[in-house]
Amino acid sequence: MQNVIQNLIDQIGIFPVWIIASLLTFLRYLTLAGSVHLFFYVFLIKKFRNLKIQRNSPERIQLLNEMKNSFYTSMIFAFMGMSVYAARHFGYTKHYFNISDYGWLYFGFSILLLVFAHDTYFYWIHRLMHLPKLFRLLHRVHHLSFNPTPMTSFSFHPLESFLEFGIVPLIVFIVPIHPFALLFFSVWSMIWNIYGHLGFELFPTGFPKHRFWGWFNTSVHHNMHHQRVNYNFGLYFNIWDRLMKTNHPDYLQVYQNVKNNHYRKI
Ligand SMILES: [Zn+2]
Ligand SMILES: [Zn+2]
Repeated sequence: MQNVIQNLIDQIGIFPVWIIASLLTFLRYLTLAGSVHLFFYVFLIKKFRNLKIQRNSPERIQLLNEMKNSFYTSMIFAFMGMSVYAARHFGYTKHYFNISDYGWLYFGFSILLLVFAHDTYFYWIHRLMHLPKLFRLLHRVHHLSFNPTPMTSFSFHPLESFLEFGIVPLIVFIVPIHPFALLFFSVWSMIWNIYGHLGFELFPTGFPKHRFWGWFNTSVHHNMHHQRVNYNFGLYFNIWDRLMKTNHPDYLQVYQNVKNNHYRKI
């Protein structure tokens, strides 16, 4: 893979490779987020209506704006990915390529480390981005989507995209990471990001109150963040919001209302 990218850069130059990488990243977003969106909001909307978090579906203009923003995000992510690749090429990162160098236990641990480090990183940069000046500059674009769908999952201001990707260089410069661990992490991160913006709650009744599962966030949790911006900053886990007391006080009740299919009762 390394040689393929290097040969391509040698043959056509770094700028065209960046454009191709951006288009592939955007295509991956369109395919994944787009198919989940079509599945829930078009093909099976009647079947899943009972799981819907907000009554209405977003306007088409919101989706178009999200796709435009996601294209810019793809360009930034591709740029950052190529920068990490270049750093790796020149030996600045702590990548390793044989799992046996550190063993399977460490391989599993490194994936968990990426997930928990990202959860902490995200919570704190997210809180910073909600400071009024930074919000206007960086994070307002993401919050223009009051009623998020999977298409919202990549919809950031370009400067926010830099920050969103920042956890990867931060980790690979410090900790030995196998490329497959990064791959697992990016798949997990993308699935969670789409679920968080899904607009439908797939987890069962009582999930956020459960002794174990309650430590995971839900789609309702992040959906509430898009409507009531000063609460629910967390990503994967409900750890930092509990520690910092930033869970919305109505979170459990709203979750229950969604599960009780409140729209039918209105
Ligand atoms: Zn936010
Ligand atoms: Zn969001």
